[in-house]
Order: sequence, then C-alpha cells, then structure tokens
Amino acid sequence: MKIILLGPPGAGKGTQSAMLVERYKIPQISTGDMLRAAVAAKSPMGIKAKECMDSGDLVPDEVVVGIVRERLQEEDCNGGFILDGFPRTTPQADSLKQVLIDLGKQIDAAVSLQVDTESLVERLTGRRTCADCGKGFHLRYDPPADNGTCSACGGELTQRADDCEETIRNRMEVYHQVTAPLETYYSDQGILQCVDGMGEIGAVQQAIVATLQG
Ligand code: AMP
Repeated sequence: MKIILLGPPGAGKGTQSAMLVERYKIPQISTGDMLRAAVAAKSPMGIKAKECMDSGDLVPDEVVVGIVRERLQEEDCNGGFILDGFPRTTPQADSLKQVLIDLGKQIDAAVSLQVDTESLVERLTGRRTCADCGKGFHLRYDPPADNGTCSACGGELTQRADDCEETIRNRMEVYHQVTAPLETYYSDQGILQCVDGMGEIGAVQQAIVATLQG
C-alpha cells in the first residue's frame, strides 16, 4: 500500500499515519518529523530549515524532495509507505512522480482529511508532546493526568514551536495557497479520496481504511 495523506496542519495526518503503520506494517514518512530531527541535531539542513519552520513557511522544495527521494530507496519502503506532509507543493508532487517512476513504484491513493479551520486551530493550540517518550496529548481531548507531565513516563510536556496561534494562521494560509491545489492534482490522476476528518480518531481511521479497501 502506497499512500499519500493530504490535509491542513492539525487534520490528524500524523495520528492517522501512526495507526496505518500498525495496521499495514509499512513506514510513515513524515517530512515534518525528519526536519524536526534535523533541527534538533543542528545538522546543516536543520539549521537552514529552522527559520522557515518557526515562521510557519515551507522549507525549500529541493530540500524536502532530496530527503524523501533518499528515504523511499530504503528497504523498508519496498512493501509500501505512508507519505505524511509530503508533497506540499505542485513542484514537490511533480518531483515525487519522477522519483516513483525511477523506482518503478506507483501511489495507490491520496487520502485528503477534511477538517474545518476553527477546529484545526483548536487542535493545534492544545497539542502537547512528551519530551522524553514522544507521546502526544491534547489539553482538551486527551489530557494528561497531571497538566505538564506525561501520563506514560512522567516526562515534561512540550509544545511545538510552530503551534502558537500566529504561526498556525500562517501555516493555514500557506496550506490554502500552495498545498490545497494538490487535491485537484491527484483528483485529475483519479487517485484522490476525501475522508471526513472531523470525527473521533478511531472513526476517522475506519473511514480511511474503508476508502483504501474500497
Ligand atoms: P508538519 O509536521 O508536517 O506540520 O511540518 C512542520 C513544518 O515542517 C512545516 O510547517 C514546514 O515548515 C516544514 N515542512 C514539513 N513538510 C514539508 C514539505 N513537504 N515541504 C516544505 N516544508 C515542509
């Protein structure tokens, strides 16, 4: 199964990808996660990417295309993969098409999660992650037992630097300007599947799986 997960920031791409990883035993390729790891490691790419990420802008196409091209050649991608947060621009989608032709692979479905803007802002501003074990929480929908500490390991909960309201608004703007047109791009290729992302996490997962199996 080779899947692209589309949707605005906060649509649940990361959460749903993690569940699809379990179900289909295929890797999640999250450009956001890979870039955050590069920022944390202070690698040359991370240092370059940090400024764009902190302001909610996109990292240059050639940077993300390069990391995805490399990642897709790893052995664990042979049985399929979930692209989470990539592509985000039409040039990225064109590059992906070429990379897949070179690798003799084809995307099965581009699943677009549909969530209204106000819910997205609420989801993102309440999002917290454990600095130690990486477990995710939401202050309203999945609160930790003790505010500020992870219920699983007791680690400190942190908020992503780009989850403040001003940056979120910019990320939404960027999404509508340059990423949303990818729905038409994949619809023209006959592989777009729109799924209602407003429901409860398990219900959204079921809807995605039904779409993929249909
Ligand atoms: P995400 O975790 O997917 O919300 O991504 C966080 C940030 O990483 C984005 O706001 C961008 O700055 C950067 N980023 C992630 N994926 C991409 C991509 N495909 N193209 C450009 N920038 C990206």
